[in-house]
Amino acid sequence: MSSAKFETLKNGELLHFSVGALIEKDGKFLLIDRNLHPFGFACVAGHVDEGESPEVALEREVREECGLIVESAKLVVEEEVTQKNKCTYGVEQHKWFVFSCTVSGDLKTNEREVKSSGWYTPTEIKELKVEPVWKYWLQKLAII
Ligand SMILES: [Zn+2]
Repeated sequence: MSSAKFETLKNGELLHFSVGALIEKDGKFLLIDRNLHPFGFACVAGHVDEGESPEVALEREVREECGLIVESAKLVVEEEVTQKNKCTYGVEQHKWFVFSCTVSGDLKTNEREVKSSGWYTPTEIKELKVEPVWKYWLQKLAII
């Protein structure tokens, strides 16, 4: 695993940077059931690595997790949150960049990172066990 970009906050805690991909097709959104902590359904997401811009991290994560190519990306959320579900590195504070994306290619998920994937309507998403930070973004963006 490559190293996540971080900053050290005044209180000594670490701040990580994360990107998320909101991918919509015909009124349905691409969600994955995460095979890695934090568990639950989520949009494709991951850490920004050292030396990466959020845009580059987004393209990499979308390609790694589901084999798709980002064709265009529009930043829709830039916000720092404290996550009750710490990330794999045990860090709570994350600054998120969520992009609304268009993609090309065939969906082929990474079996190590993804249990299953699918396209879900907002009504269906409300029935899923969505990872808390993603529930927050989807509500904030008035999708659910
Ligand atoms: Zn993290």
